[in-house]
Amino acid sequence: MDCRDAEELFVPYLLGTIDERERRLMDSRLESCGACSVALHSDDQTVASFAFELPQLEVPCEVSRKLFKRVERYGRLASRIIMQAEAFGRGFSQAFMPHVAKALA
Ligand SMILES: [Zn+2]
Repeated sequence: MDCRDAEELFVPYLLGTIDERERRLMDSRLESCGACSVALHSDDQTVASFAFELPQLEVPCEVSRKLFKRVERYGRLASRIIMQAEAFGRGFSQAFMPHVAKALA
């Protein structure tokens, strides 16, 4: 990776949208090249100022309602799976442990 390759990846790097391999290449580039490191820093400020200048969009009520409903549903599903797994674990050890105890006696 040279300076030009690195420069093309500055914005995705700052936004955290590059893959692991590219990120490692960028990290080592930034450690070894002062010019890239300085250039990235100025891009960093540009990206940050863009982020604050963009208008904050209001999420439509219907969208947030659906989103929260989905989060809630997955949460309930996850806790049901965990409860079943725990019950299975208890049942398993209740059924199994007497035999183990007998075998060890
Ligand atoms: Zn460079």
